[in-house]
Amino acid sequence: MNITGNLVNAYYICEIKKSSIGTKAAIMQVSFYLKKLKEKGISARGEILIPKEKKKISVELTKDLEAELDRGISDMKAIIAGDSPPKAIKNNFCKNCAFYELCFA
Ligand code: SF4
Repeated sequence: MNITGNLVNAYYICEIKKSSIGTKAAIMQVSFYLKKLKEKGISARGEILIPKEKKKISVELTKDLEAELDRGISDMKAIIAGDSPPKAIKNNFCKNCAFYELCFA
């Protein structure tokens, strides 16, 4: 905060990715960090950096993104509260996913 009590955009949260595959998930990940910082009174901006593709995607925590995050968090809480997780559905990301063994072993 500055001396007038306003939040200041003094920080950048950067997430580095290997490729632009899964950009939407990366945007949500950075938005989650921004939301957590906002809850602590810290205003920040986000950037997703994809060096191999020479790309930089700016992420700003908009009201729409916050609402989408809240829906996602609510959905996750409902899954956690359930008796068993939903059945995993194979998709194009599964073959390179670190959680493959957990989903399909
Ligand atoms: S392996 Fe599981 S967690 Fe990974 S992408 Fe597939 S369904 Fe999702």
